[in-house]
Amino acid sequence: MSMDFADRVQRVSPSATISIGNAASALEADGVDVVDLSVGEPDFPTPENVIEAGKEAIDAGHTGYAPSPGVPALREEIADKLRADGLDYGAENVMVTPGGKQALYEIFQTIVDDGDEVVLLDPAWVSYEAMTKLAGGSLSRVDLAPHGFALEPALDDLVETVSDDTTLLVVNSPSNPTGAVYSDAALEGVRDLAVDHDFTVISDEIYKEVTYGTEATSLGSLSGMADRTVTLNGFSKAYSMTGWRLGYFAGPEELISQAGKLQSHSVTCATHFVQYAGIEALRNTDDAVTEMREAFRERRDLLCNLLADRGIDVPKPEGAFYLMIPVADDDQSWCERAIEEAHVATVPGSAFGAPGYARISYAASADRLEEAVSRFDDERLL
Ligand code: PMP
Ligand code: GLU
Repeated sequence: MSMDFADRVQRVSPSATISIGNAASALEADGVDVVDLSVGEPDFPTPENVIEAGKEAIDAGHTGYAPSPGVPALREEIADKLRADGLDYGAENVMVTPGGKQALYEIFQTIVDDGDEVVLLDPAWVSYEAMTKLAGGSLSRVDLAPHGFALEPALDDLVETVSDDTTLLVVNSPSNPTGAVYSDAALEGVRDLAVDHDFTVISDEIYKEVTYGTEATSLGSLSGMADRTVTLNGFSKAYSMTGWRLGYFAGPEELISQAGKLQSHSVTCATHFVQYAGIEALRNTDDAVTEMREAFRERRDLLCNLLADRGIDVPKPEGAFYLMIPVADDDQSWCERAIEEAHVATVPGSAFGAPGYARISYAASADRLEEAVSRFDDERLL
């Protein structure tokens, strides 16, 4: 007898970012010197005081279940941060989750029914499409690539795409994979459409702390958006806490209680002692965050200069730590050659709905970035 698998898992492929990261790790385990520019993961240690807070929480005995929606002090701290971003929220509007990905999964499952339309702004992070399909939703996509990855000049296309049938739009600013930070005028355009057509918007703000001049506005802070925005964030990127698995979302209380059913029947809660490390991260890491941001800025500038020297001009990303570079039409083969011949791991743009590009994560040291470009030169990949 062979096992029969549910349609919902057969509708999706494994995450491209995670699969390529795993392939790079496997090559490294075989002794190959891989420059891994695939997975978007800061290469800094978690700040020391955050690690200490996690250890102290274990010593203090916070090793049992936490309240399902999160430790009250962390929910309060998150609500304080959101209020500083212009969102009028209290602890009751916040759900703490094991990672931002789990937060997104719960949001999609709570909002999207079979056949509901979900609109993505391409290039879009790989997991939005999979989460839409897992929830049974149907996808519509607006391509920002012809507009230099900016949202404002693509608003007309968005107007053409959304309708009263739209259930959900996902906005991710700063964007993974382009690093674009959307202008206030663009976000106001989104707001007007959401209000006109009465749909919900996820504002994925996981890279909000990683910007290089232009601040990313929280969509939910715009008038008319408070009760139709779900704001998503996490600790992985800003505080270099990818392995701690801590994230959250915030929205109307009814959303928290509906999604709370999913959380209570699945993961129960985010790891208890990790939540105390999260409180410390929100309270006392300004210097560490600034240091990491400055390092990312230097690497971005270095990479853009190295590419410009080779005649490749890319719009300079204003946030996150990714760069989309134009490659051959068949970006899949280009990335295969990059890893097999140059031993540099990158992610094909097609995985983000942007064929003809490869995504480079510059969350790597200057030396490794220079090494990657010199290997591209050696293999005539650029
Ligand atoms: N949103 C975006 C755009 C991301 O790039 C990531 C990266 N992992 C996440 C959400 C989720 O991150 P995590 O689960 O580590 O919090
Ligand atoms: N979000 C990061 C990336 O795009 C980490 C991997 C993932 O979760 O997709 O590389």
